[in-house]
Amino acid sequence: MTTPVFASVVCDADSTLAGVEGIDWLAGRRGAAVAAAVAELTDDAMAGRVALDAVYGERLARIRPTRADIAALGDAYVAALAPGAIATVHALSAAGVRVVIVSGGLRPALLPMTRALGIAERDLHAVDLVLDAHGAYEDFDRASPLATQGGKPRVLAALSLPAPVLAVGDGSTDVAMREAGATFAAFTGFVHRASVVAQAAVVLQDFDALRALVLPSLRTP
Ligand SMILES: [Mg+2]
Repeated sequence: MTTPVFASVVCDADSTLAGVEGIDWLAGRRGAAVAAAVAELTDDAMAGRVALDAVYGERLARIRPTRADIAALGDAYVAALAPGAIATVHALSAAGVRVVIVSGGLRPALLPMTRALGIAERDLHAVDLVLDAHGAYEDFDRASPLATQGGKPRVLAALSLPAPVLAVGDGSTDVAMREAGATFAAFTGFVHRASVVAQAAVVLQDFDALRALVLPSLRTP
């Protein structure tokens, strides 16, 4: 049995665990003009050019996702899981590493992927949606820190995970988890952002690299 290098691993969801940007994906169901506008807002936020707070509600107000949209997105996340993600999460969990998801995505859409990864639903931290009785969009959880730029370190600090903690993600909101004491690993398997990589202690191209980092004695020769 190997001794893990990190006691806890915090994974981002969109463009890390799965090759989907959920809110952009939903926007794609609303036509090219909405899709282009929303993708630009997302990219500005993930590159750190604007604060996430400024774009979160604006994106959802343009899309107004329904229950059917969320169900379809849930399927898309599962279909786009990163190669090796399920095996790596299982290996980390088997070695006693605490694995949690901290995402600025929409919680109901991320639940199927969370289950597919073998992660408990209580370890999925994301933004809830408010839908009406017919499944139409009403609002998102405006109290969620995860809809704001500095939300991830706040949530991470409140979780009091076993240390040392490794935070893995592709965006500027993931880099911010360093403020809560985490080591930051940039995940470049789907998107490579120079501004994010420049702030990373380590760069991971795939989930095999994550497994080798956290469980080095299990590295395959
Ligand atoms: Mg991401």
